Amino acid sequence: MPELFIDASWRSAADGGRRDVVNPYDGEVFTTVDEAGPADAEAAVLAARRAFDAGPWPHTPVAERADLLRRVADLLQRDREEIARTETLDTGKTLAESRIDVDDVTEVFRYYAEQALVEVDRTVDVGRDDVVSRVLHHPVGVCTLIAPWNYPLLQISWKVAPALAAGNTVVLKPSEVTPLTTVHLVRLLEEAGAPAGVVNLVLGAGSAVGPVLTEHPAVDLVSFTGGLDTGRAILRATAATVKRTTVELGGKNPHLVFADADLDRAIDAVLTGVFLHAGQVCSAGTRLIVEESIADALVAGVAERARRVKLGDGMAEGTESGPLVSAQHRDKVEAYVRLGLEEGATLVTGGRRPDAPELARGFFYEPTIFDGCDRSMRLVQEETFGPILTVERFTTEEEAVRLGNDTAYGLAGGVQTGDPERGERVARALRHGTVWINDFGPYVPQAEWGGMRMSGNGRELGPAGLAEYRETQHVWHNTRPEAAAWFKG
Ligand code: NAD
Repeated sequence: MPELFIDASWRSAADGGRRDVVNPYDGEVFTTVDEAGPADAEAAVLAARRAFDAGPWPHTPVAERADLLRRVADLLQRDREEIARTETLDTGKTLAESRIDVDDVTEVFRYYAEQALVEVDRTVDVGRDDVVSRVLHHPVGVCTLIAPWNYPLLQISWKVAPALAAGNTVVLKPSEVTPLTTVHLVRLLEEAGAPAGVVNLVLGAGSAVGPVLTEHPAVDLVSFTGGLDTGRAILRATAATVKRTTVELGGKNPHLVFADADLDRAIDAVLTGVFLHAGQVCSAGTRLIVEESIADALVAGVAERARRVKLGDGMAEGTESGPLVSAQHRDKVEAYVRLGLEEGATLVTGGRRPDAPELARGFFYEPTIFDGCDRSMRLVQEETFGPILTVERFTTEEEAVRLGNDTAYGLAGGVQTGDPERGERVARALRHGTVWINDFGPYVPQAEWGGMRMSGNGRELGPAGLAEYRETQHVWHNTRPEAAAWFKG
């Protein structure tokens, strides 16, 4: 069955393009998919445009739109195991993580089914009994939704659910590296009854289909999650037609550990915060900022456990971390390790591919820790997006906060402390979109997610995640009009 979905029909690329999909665990091509080109992207945009301008969806009662989201949630649970296995094949992450992703995404669809019903239109008291003034909300229009490869199903769903809840029509563009669960999701949206043209799917390289999806005048909104450089290119691309543009970008996330924290629990939090999914997490706690008096003990404890992380096949029971997503991405991570050594950081553990023969064909890399780091190093400034932890030290709370904020990014951060007041104080002082106190990583659909500074400019999840997909309109209704008589002539 073809994998592009345009104007309610599954089709192959106009120019017959195909792409190999590789299993990062063994480097084998396990399937191929249709690879769209600019003509397919244009067809998808125009289909979404027609569905918005002439189709029923933007005017469908909100309760019916919410019902569709609930049906999608049920179908995700029906296909949970199949989707999870596909995600693991495609990304290399463990099956346990993939199952959590499907469950989380299910909750996101359910949340937006509820949130869509929350009344946001309002009447304004203008102090005149002859005027009714109302602030109304409408769908924005045609939305291009572009997602990365680290959480393929999850990232696209954070966009699709609120976009559809608000009555928009959409064109989905998953990463060309990990397209498969998005294809499955679109099949479920079709099965759930999305009207023709409301949901369209374009697979393919960003360089080929991206310009159409971000520059086309028929597109009203672009929501992008991915890397900083691509985000900048997309902001430039949408500027000419002044599209509403949301970019969720990378992070270089500080994890502050104070000496009053419970040491074993802090070791566990630092380990999970940085090495989950081989560090390929936008909010990974890659910058350990630790109080000098406990630094040696903490680093030794994290290193000792990092050496024991069980790398392997994401499908296998007992695997704790899979490979990196591609050979190309591992090259990038290895280049950062070389850079760290050149910059004078001290390698504590890792810094190489694992020896185990059964891991030799996959894109594995050992959990890696660099001590003796400081802000002058590119290793500390730039997102490595791999299993690399850098260590900086502080002696005062003020210095810890200053270091935590001394980054161009602002996505997420963590504070480990035994003093709740300090936790609250430091969390508020950190200029990051999410801060965890004595935890690292959880999110819920009800609470906004997004970055400050160069981590991005919008919010997903929560009420703000729905507001991104709504236009606001003020309607002033003069019920007893009279001539203004401003001009006397
Ligand atoms: P990427 O920027 O390379 O690609 C992201 C998507 O953009 C892909 O679908 C790609 O095909 C597409 N794309 C590439 N060039 C394009 C163009 N010119 N026009 C339109 N689309 C284009 O990112 P990636 O390597 O897939 O993902 C990793 C990055 O994503 C990391 O930087 C990570 O921090 C970030 N990320 C951020 C969040 C967040 O919530 N802030 C979440 C997950 C990942």
